[in-house]
Amino acid sequence: MICLGIESTAHTFGVSVATREKILSNVMDSYKPKKGGIHPREASEHHARVCTDVINESLSKAGLSHKDLDLIAFSNAPGIGHTLGVGAVVARTLSKTLNKPLIPVNHCIAHVEIGRKITGCIDPVTLYVSGANTQIIAYQGGYYRVFAETLDMGAGNFIDSFARYSGIPFPGGPVIEKLAEKGGYVELPYSVKGMDVSFTGILTNLRNKLRTHELKDLCYSMQEHVFAMLVEVSERALAHCQKNELLLAGGVASNKRLREMCKVMCKERGAEFFVPKKEYCVDNGAMIAVLGLLMHDAGVKFKKSDYLISQRQRTDEVMVLWR
Ligand code: AMP
Ligand code: MG
Repeated sequence: MICLGIESTAHTFGVSVATREKILSNVMDSYKPKKGGIHPREASEHHARVCTDVINESLSKAGLSHKDLDLIAFSNAPGIGHTLGVGAVVARTLSKTLNKPLIPVNHCIAHVEIGRKITGCIDPVTLYVSGANTQIIAYQGGYYRVFAETLDMGAGNFIDSFARYSGIPFPGGPVIEKLAEKGGYVELPYSVKGMDVSFTGILTNLRNKLRTHELKDLCYSMQEHVFAMLVEVSERALAHCQKNELLLAGGVASNKRLREMCKVMCKERGAEFFVPKKEYCVDNGAMIAVLGLLMHDAGVKFKKSDYLISQRQRTDEVMVLWR
């Protein structure tokens, strides 16, 4: 069974060819705004421009052609409407012309499933931190349930906004991580509300402090505060769910300090820590192909409306029939 997975929820147009046993290719092309954040129309124009080349490169890296495909999977939710639309049209066109089944895939759940496949963890609590999403997800009672999440913006968008105020271009995360290495401690708000986290107040505080403090100190302190918040709620989710594996996913998972803090917490409570390599942490087509195959093998049936894109579908709306 050969599946082509298409990812297009935000800045990245990613295409992967995978079988149940192996990921054969994972090609991506990301939209980079000239200034500011992601402009939805520009991002969708980028995806429309690169989609044919990315698909062809992915097939060629896998050593296969269109006619070898058995299944088309695409991320139909959640994300930016404009960019989701491009992936949906491309996927539907391939499915119709090749006469192969189409599988709509939830992007957040796909991050969890690629993590399980690549790292070998079995039943993790997932700390999923990306640009738009920040959720702590665990499987319980037939669904991937959200045990904690951001009350306002995703951690990545928060980091990118702080970067933008500091004159650092998108994506700001890697540059801030580098600057943080030389920084010292400045007190910032610590914003954990029950199991949830919130970032806008910290962003305002940081923005004000840009006038009076050194950028490297703010970068260091931002990481220490925000990652501690994320690790705190992850630990509580592990305790509450009585699970002993933590999986880190999403673009912010590339951050070494966040990984280190997760590792320390897991070690202290006797849990195991897992993080896939970067290529599978960021938005990618492989995670869509992997979950597409799982859903297909589980015989998941779709209504006509399930194929539509959904900007706001929640992780816990999808019944998990493959576990
Ligand atoms: P995603 O939406 O999952 O593709 O992740 C993109 C987000 O990850 C952006 O907001 C980036 O700023 C952020 N990011 C990437 N690398 C790092 C890093 N090393 N540290 C912190 N954030 C990062
Ligand atoms: Mg993502």
